Amino acid sequence: MSEIRLLDQNTINKIAAGEVVERPSSVVKELVENSIDAGASAITIEIKEGGISFIRITDNGKGISKEDIQTAFIRHSTSKIKSIEDLITVSSLGFRGEALASIAAVSQVEVITKTYDDITGIRYVIEGGREVSKEEIGCPEGTTIIIKNLFYNTPARRKFLKKPATEGAYISEFINKLALGNIGISFKFIYNNTIKLHTSGNNVLKDCIFNIYGKEIVKNSVPIEINNDQFKINGFIGKPKISRAIRNYENYYINGRYIKSKIIMKAIEEGYKTKLTVHRFPFTAFYITINPELIDVNVHPTKMEVRFNNESIIYEAIKSGIYEALRKVDLIPEVSLNN
Ligand code: ADP
Ligand code: MG
Repeated sequence: MSEIRLLDQNTINKIAAGEVVERPSSVVKELVENSIDAGASAITIEIKEGGISFIRITDNGKGISKEDIQTAFIRHSTSKIKSIEDLITVSSLGFRGEALASIAAVSQVEVITKTYDDITGIRYVIEGGREVSKEEIGCPEGTTIIIKNLFYNTPARRKFLKKPATEGAYISEFINKLALGNIGISFKFIYNNTIKLHTSGNNVLKDCIFNIYGKEIVKNSVPIEINNDQFKINGFIGKPKISRAIRNYENYYINGRYIKSKIIMKAIEEGYKTKLTVHRFPFTAFYITINPELIDVNVHPTKMEVRFNNESIIYEAIKSGIYEALRKVDLIPEVSLNN
């Protein structure tokens, strides 16, 4: 008797969804990245109950056409690459075509979307991977996507979620990072009906830092600039006196992408070494622009990790760039009102 069988598509999708959708913040990440890839200049993220019961993302990007809406929810369907060769130069945040399929497999999804060219828009509802309805409606250009009851059909996964406040904090943290990485986009974050963040999207880094972190951090940050023939780095780094007990304020981006890198983290902390006591971490917001052929962003499905062809040159540049930027600060005496 045969024991091996091919799983049905719905089960395959639910299992695969675990790779992409771990928690509400992963849903927000995927959807906001889609909005950015769609060329949006304004993105609103609204959540309730830490995103577990409700997430709504609204963008003014290019929208999805009637012809594409169903395909968009099929695994490995993407408009962003055509073949493996494109991976070398891909500049979009997404390219795997897995997010919408994964999210729809484990939640209740409603999309309202319209392209610039279409006269009417479309409302598409898909729950647990099964299409519920598709109808034409009047709506503005862009896309609104609502995700309700994440993991409603996979109780084992739902059980592993943390308290709504904790899940909400992950989302908030992530939106801060994204907003800082995309200063030309206006981000609005609404948590339980309260506006928590609203960036202007005016392309001025200082304004964005102010919107997210407030006056103290802006006032106590200094510019960093590194230029060499392989890459460019620019941004701001915090003076030692605004250091934190947590690493959350270390922000760095490669070619517009928010990433995590042990090499960069180590370089930052080495650059600050003599200026910070143990277990204190700096504020940084800098941007690395590098030829995409010198990095590999395809390391992990969530694409948060990047590998460099030449790690040591990046490491040395950041470390000495930070050291230099801080040394300049030391040369300018602080103006004190007391003496
Ligand atoms: P990927 O982003 O890897 O291509 P997704 O599953 O996230 O895969 O999205 C599938 C496709 O749906 C995208 O390639 C894009 O064409 C379309 N899409 C998704 N979200 C949006 C959006 N907010 N605006 C316009 N198009 C979108
Ligand atoms: Mg995507």
